[in-house]
Amino acid sequence: MSDPTTPEGRAELRRLLGSGFTDQPWAIWHDLDHQGFKTIGDEAGVLSDGKPFTEECNPFAHVYTDDLADLIVAAVTALPALLDALDQADAELAGYRAEEQRVRAWNALVNEGNVRCTDCGLRYAEREEYSCGDERHQGVHYYDPEELVEARRRALEGEP
Ligand SMILES: [Zn+2]
Repeated sequence: MSDPTTPEGRAELRRLLGSGFTDQPWAIWHDLDHQGFKTIGDEAGVLSDGKPFTEECNPFAHVYTDDLADLIVAAVTALPALLDALDQADAELAGYRAEEQRVRAWNALVNEGNVRCTDCGLRYAEREEYSCGDERHQGVHYYDPEELVEARRRALEGEP
């Protein structure tokens, strides 16, 4: 079964729509074929009232009930627009996700930059501009590596 929520599933449904059928919308042809079934075919092939169903008529489907005929015609006719709408929604969603990822990457940089030196309290982002005020480390700042990793991880995973 094709999954219309995936691009591959939509491609498969488009392939099925295009295989052996017309580009025209489907329609219910007339009430009964010679076997007593309702028939479905392309819109252009709808038989006029009173015209008999013959062996030359070549419908796509013979169905047992009016409801089923209505459903098949409505579903097949609606399918191309539904597939297009899903393609468009997927493309928009991909754009939103890419923007979200850019925001998270920026927030990760900001969060990491706000981690403080354990000795003098200077922000990580400013570590190359000032030497450490704590004389014990000859001017070199110390930042907790776990705190730096955690600051980035929170932002990248979208945590506040
Ligand atoms: Zn420092």
